[in-house]
Amino acid sequence: MKEIIEQQREYFNSNVTKPLSFRLAALKTLKKVLKDNQNQLDAAIKKDFGKQRFENLLTELYVVQDDLTVAIDNLEVWASNKPIPTNVLNDPSTCYIMAEPLGVSLIIGPWNYPYQLTLAPIVAAIAAGCTAIIKPSELTVNSSSLIAKLINENFDSKYLHVVLGGIPETTALLEQKFDKIFFTGSVPVGKIVYQAAAKHLTPVTLELGGKSPVIIMEDSDLELTVKRLVWGKFLNSGQTCIAPDYVFVHSKIENKFLELLTTEIKTREYKLENGNLVQIVNDRNTTRLANLIDPGKVHYGGKVDVKNRLIEPTILTNVTWDDKVMQEEIFGPILPVMTFNNLKEVIRQIKERPKPLALYLFTKSEETKNKVLSEVSFGGGCVNDTIMHISVGALPFGGVGDSGIGSYHGEEGFKSFSHYKSILDKPFTPEPEIKFSPYTTEKIQMMESLVN
Ligand code: NAD
Repeated sequence: MKEIIEQQREYFNSNVTKPLSFRLAALKTLKKVLKDNQNQLDAAIKKDFGKQRFENLLTELYVVQDDLTVAIDNLEVWASNKPIPTNVLNDPSTCYIMAEPLGVSLIIGPWNYPYQLTLAPIVAAIAAGCTAIIKPSELTVNSSSLIAKLINENFDSKYLHVVLGGIPETTALLEQKFDKIFFTGSVPVGKIVYQAAAKHLTPVTLELGGKSPVIIMEDSDLELTVKRLVWGKFLNSGQTCIAPDYVFVHSKIENKFLELLTTEIKTREYKLENGNLVQIVNDRNTTRLANLIDPGKVHYGGKVDVKNRLIEPTILTNVTWDDKVMQEEIFGPILPVMTFNNLKEVIRQIKERPKPLALYLFTKSEETKNKVLSEVSFGGGCVNDTIMHISVGALPFGGVGDSGIGSYHGEEGFKSFSHYKSILDKPFTPEPEIKFSPYTTEKIQMMESLVN
């Protein structure tokens, strides 16, 4: 690993990765490789956790291809110097900000969207002109091996290289000096990565998790609300970092909401037996999730097929913050429902807890919308939808506080792998005498007129 990192540093220092033509060619190669290997990508992820072709296309490959297209179309503008107005003290001079790639980067990915969450940061690293060592999750053996094969066979290891492995390999990587670390994963491991980065003063992007709330107001279009909620919650069997974690529904509409929720789950044919459910990634997580289901609070579902790692969409009611399911990020197809009468109370309860990665609000009221959006801090989210903010390539995606540091997608991704140099560019003449001593009365008066 050390040798590859050194080779990447040498390669980066040779300036090969900096010209736009090089970066564009690499982005186009990646685009073609992913397109040409779609069937293999499908087969591998299906083996890992039964992800269906439609979900793979929508939530993995589309997002990466969209990121690639946006980067290819906009790279020239992103990479161009940004003019900044100068001031009277420095007249005549030109000021500008110049983007430069940070250097050798490390990208660490999670298992839940193994392609998207490993490849989208690679797109950003390539666009910025960095080299990258990539460490996908060890839990999705087939998808991660395929990423390694596709990247390592199509790119020089001096430029991009995938390393496979788990905690020991990641720990060894984190001991090395990188110029940028881009981590996607859990909050506890995010803290480990941040500490390791601090030893080398390496800048980080941390894309973490947390419990993302849904608030459903009395005035929402309840049928559509439920349809969008069920889609977002049970997509990938709830194993989505921005999945709705729990619901706060206004008490006056709770009964109707629960009735619609049950009907919608049935309509979508989410059943243990019919092959429509994405599997839970491993036995440990299946058992962990099964233990979060309090049988006394099950309103719908609750069945678990441990052998096949399947869990039926499960609704829990009469839930309180003391329940086990409310003590950790669920990351599975279990939806706890709590009720409220007063929005202020909901806001207070969310604000008392770690800042969520996402928040979803369903309402027709502008006033409610403004209140929630301006008073609650969270990474990003939707009004009257779930999840879909991540699908807009031009919207920065990231967390805040416990849910992460920094953001990416589109230009934000480019920025996260770049340093912005500030340049003051001056001609040799003229050179006004004012700043040089001796400081005469006239000079002091001139300075006073500038200050006052
Ligand atoms: P994880 O933190 O367990 O693992 C992520 C990566 O870190 C893996 O590559 C793993 O090999 C490595 N790793 C694990 N333990 C480590 C250790 N002790 N030292 C060094 N490296 C270690 O996360 P996960 O289970 O793969 O993913 C689920 C979590 O990721 C959830 O919390 C979810 O919310 C979060 N997530 C966040 C985003 C986002 O974009 N913000 C996206 C997906 C997942």
